[in-house]
Amino acid sequence: MEHVKCLIIGSGPAGYTAAIYASRANLKPVEYCGLLTGGQLTQTTMVENFPGYPQGVLGGQMMNDIREQAERFGADIRDGIITKVDFSKAPYKVTTEEGGEIEADTVIIATGASAKYLGLDDEKKYNGMGVSACATCDGFFYRKKTVAVVGGGDTACEDALYLAGLAKKVYLIVRKPFLRASKVMQERVMNAENIEVLFEHNTIGLYGENGVEGAHLVKRRGEADEEKVDIQIDGFFLAIGHKPNSDVFKEWLETDEVGYIKTIDGTPRTKIPGVFVAGDVADPVYRQAITAAASGCKAALEAERYLLNK
Ligand code: NDP
Repeated sequence: MEHVKCLIIGSGPAGYTAAIYASRANLKPVEYCGLLTGGQLTQTTMVENFPGYPQGVLGGQMMNDIREQAERFGADIRDGIITKVDFSKAPYKVTTEEGGEIEADTVIIATGASAKYLGLDDEKKYNGMGVSACATCDGFFYRKKTVAVVGGGDTACEDALYLAGLAKKVYLIVRKPFLRASKVMQERVMNAENIEVLFEHNTIGLYGENGVEGAHLVKRRGEADEEKVDIQIDGFFLAIGHKPNSDVFKEWLETDEVGYIKTIDGTPRTKIPGVFVAGDVADPVYRQAITAAASGCKAALEAERYLLNK
C-alpha cells in the first residue's frame, strides 16, 4: 500500500494552496483532484476580487497557475476521486475510484461544494438539453437565443451578465422581491438592457419537444394574487448556491444540517488528530477564493505542526 505523509483531497484554491505549503514543508503531498479538476473557479469567468490581479484573472487560469506553483515544489497532483475513507486510526486509509489504497499520516480535505438544483423532474429530463448549472461552460450554445438564470445571489448575477453578452435576452428568475447579490453586481444587472429581472417568481416546470422551449413560472406563489406565467426560453441555468461535498466523510466527521464539515474553533482541525479541512466544504459563510486559499494554507501548516509534534 502506498504511504504518504500528507494526502490532499480536492483541487480548488484550498487544495492547491495546501499543496504549495505542504510541498515547501517537505511533506511530499499527494493531491487527488476530484471530479472537477481546479474546482468551481474553473467554471467562472473573470475573478476580480483576488488580491494581486488589478485587471482580474480568468478563474481557470488562476487555478492552473496555483497548481503549477505547487508542482514546482514537488506536489504530486493526480486526477481521480477518493471514494472511501477510514479514519478509525492513524495512518488513515483512503480508497481511490480504481480501488487503489493509500495510507496517510495526515489528510487535508478540500473537496469544495457542487451546484444545487431546484429538484424538479424536468431538470433531469432536460439535463444536457437546455438545463445547465454552468453558464460559462454552456453559454456559448445560446448565442443570440433567450435564456433564464435562476437565483438572486452573486453567482446568478454574474451568470446573467455573462449570458447577456452572448444571448439575445436573459430572464433572471428571483424568488424574493430583492436580489441578495452585492450592490455592484445588482447595479450591473439592473442596468443591462437585455436582462429582465422577474422578482417573486418560482419555476415549477419546463416544457419543450426535443429540448427546453420554455418554463412554467408562478408569480407571488401562495399569495391571493398568485399568477401563472410562462416564458419562452432556449436555456435554463441554475445559480442557486452549492452543496458541500462531504458525503464520503460523514461517517467520521460531524457536519451541520446542510453538510458543512464542523471544525474546531475556527481552525482547520477536526476531532480526528491529523485530519484537517479547508475551503468551501467547511465554510458556510465566506466561500471566497481568497478565504479558501487562506484556509488551505492554515491546514497545511497544521499538518506540518502535527507531524513535527508526533
Ligand atoms: P447564494 O447562497 O449567495 O445565493 C443563492 C441564491 O439562490 C439566493 O438568491 C437564493 O434565494 C436563491 N435560491 C436558493 N434556493 C433557491 C430555490 N430553491 N429556488 C429559487 N431560488 C433559490 O449563492 P451564490 O452561489 O450566489 O454565492 C455564494 C457565495 O459566493 C456568496 O458569498 C457570494 O457573495 C460569493 N460569490 C462571489 C462572487 C464574486 O465576488 N465575484 C461571484 C459568485 C459568488 P434567497 O435570496 O431567497 O435565499
